[in-house]
Amino acid sequence: MNSLFQRDVLFTVLSSGSSGNCTYVGDGSAGVLIDCGVSTKQILKRMEDVGLKDAPIDAVLITHEHTDHVGAARVLSGRLQQRAGRYVPFYMTAGTLDACPDQCLPDSAEVIRAGETFRVRHIEVDPFTIPHDVVDPVAYRLQVGDVSVGVVTDLGRPTALVTRKIQGLDALALEYNHDIEMLLDGPYPWHLKQRIRSNHGHLSNEQASQLLSAGLTPSLKHLVLAHLSEKNNSATKALTQATRTLKELGAEQVQVQVAEQHHAAEPIRVRASVW
Ligand SMILES: [Zn+2]
Ligand SMILES: [Zn+2]
Repeated sequence: MNSLFQRDVLFTVLSSGSSGNCTYVGDGSAGVLIDCGVSTKQILKRMEDVGLKDAPIDAVLITHEHTDHVGAARVLSGRLQQRAGRYVPFYMTAGTLDACPDQCLPDSAEVIRAGETFRVRHIEVDPFTIPHDVVDPVAYRLQVGDVSVGVVTDLGRPTALVTRKIQGLDALALEYNHDIEMLLDGPYPWHLKQRIRSNHGHLSNEQASQLLSAGLTPSLKHLVLAHLSEKNNSATKALTQATRTLKELGAEQVQVQVAEQHHAAEPIRVRASVW
């Protein structure tokens, strides 16, 4: 495809956190949702709130079977088909499909494998393995024309694979789940604290910044801090950590946004390169 005809890509975190996750990526002619952990009504309302009422949804990409990622799949699959007037596939790994709670199962699902790229219209989708306490979780890297974006949440630690996958991205939503001191001093029972900070739990602010330091390349223009814990983190703490890291890396030009649980974030327009 000729780059002169590339379109800008809209990257919008509609909801982020342990009560539900959903992100929209599209270029006006094709689009996908990544996860659907808030209600169908909320997903469509929030899209409308940020001017994406008629934006195309050609598929839903599921990362793993936790209900904050897959909760709306059953209702949403019917609604999206009505909206589009055709079948809208839900993609997930076989492990995620097997473990998906019955009440969340979409009408039908397309099985994918981590490490095998596939296409949704002209969007190239690259699912890759992340360490999380479920059967076969993935994060996604998407190539839309010249623009690369990634959604990387729900992982217990940075890995070499994830580091490689965030290289070359234009925009990245990265988990900044908890501040380790707030988690340890906070209200959660000990077993839950242990789960969150384990190698298969969630990234602390510090771990997220380690991953960012290892994988940052000059292409990155937008960073979204995602999946913040409402009990064990604050937007200020996550933002302080991320901006400090970007400053240390000499990457202060990267625009940083904190994703929210209860509102859609302002859509990020990622510019296609025009040669
Ligand atoms: Zn989650
Ligand atoms: Zn999870």
